[in-house]
Amino acid sequence: MKKSILFFMIVMVISFLTPNLFLLDIMAANKGKSDYQNGSQDLTSNSNENVAEKGFDRKTDFPETIKLLLTEKNEVIELPFEDYIKGVLIGEVPITYELEALKAQAIVARTYTLNKMKTNPNVHPNADMCDDINCCQAYKTKEYAFASWDDEEENEKWRKLETAVESTSDRVITYQGSLIAAFFHANSGGQTENAKYVWGGEDIPYLQSVAGNEGDIYQDTKSFTKAEFAELIQGAVSDYEKKDYPIEIVDYTGSGRVYHLKIGETTLKATDLRRMLGIRSTNFRVEKDENGNITFYTIGYGHGVGMSQEGANQMALEGATCEEIIKHYYLGVEC
Ligand SMILES: [Zn+2]
Repeated sequence: MKKSILFFMIVMVISFLTPNLFLLDIMAANKGKSDYQNGSQDLTSNSNENVAEKGFDRKTDFPETIKLLLTEKNEVIELPFEDYIKGVLIGEVPITYELEALKAQAIVARTYTLNKMKTNPNVHPNADMCDDINCCQAYKTKEYAFASWDDEEENEKWRKLETAVESTSDRVITYQGSLIAAFFHANSGGQTENAKYVWGGEDIPYLQSVAGNEGDIYQDTKSFTKAEFAELIQGAVSDYEKKDYPIEIVDYTGSGRVYHLKIGETTLKATDLRRMLGIRSTNFRVEKDENGNITFYTIGYGHGVGMSQEGANQMALEGATCEEIIKHYYLGVEC
């Protein structure tokens, strides 16, 4: 008994000390897998201290153009900076969202981009940003938008998108005078997440857990057979299929999401398990039936850090301005 407790504690300590190694393996295994959010595990280099040191000057720090890596074609294009922000909106939010929610998304996308260019300039050697949401944020062209809208209202929709970007073109989000790491996600499931529980590192004062404000919390169910589950988690637990271990939840984060799980002798972060399985969020309960089939019941969609896109739209529907939306999701900021 004592031995197993000791072993458990050692595993816990090791997994706390080596989060990045753990994460890198899993990220590599899941490269290209898509979900609905921005950003990657680059919070350490995006840390508040780092950002604060560099400061932000509106006059000199707005580039005219940006170099964008289109990951599918492996091609780098250069385009006007604000055209890029329009493309991010096409890729990231439905045009049917309220104008104030689209404006909030434009300010968030602009801030996220400028901050990433400043603090992580070497992520892609020949480009400032890419269109992979697990690394940077989505980007789609005007042609793509018109093809997917494909109706009589497409010109009206385009004007709405242009208004959202052009009416906010000089606006960014700052905390104590410096650009913030403006993470966002599709739907928090009711409560956003403190960034440190997702990416580790220091506590970031403006990326705390706040009410998600969504109308719909996106409930979802995903089931796996024992063999499917065993294969997906093989990098972390190699003998799952043979041993058929129970899946135990060890603890929760302050927002109610699962923080750590224990499978056999292995303790792993729920954020890592989420990547391996492709489930929508770490806000889940899990059930296993007598045949070993495993079902995850999730709410929300995405990592849960920063602005909830669905919550932003709900706030706008209820009359909030883009500034009120931003100040709700990022604490103590100016925009
Ligand atoms: Zn990227």
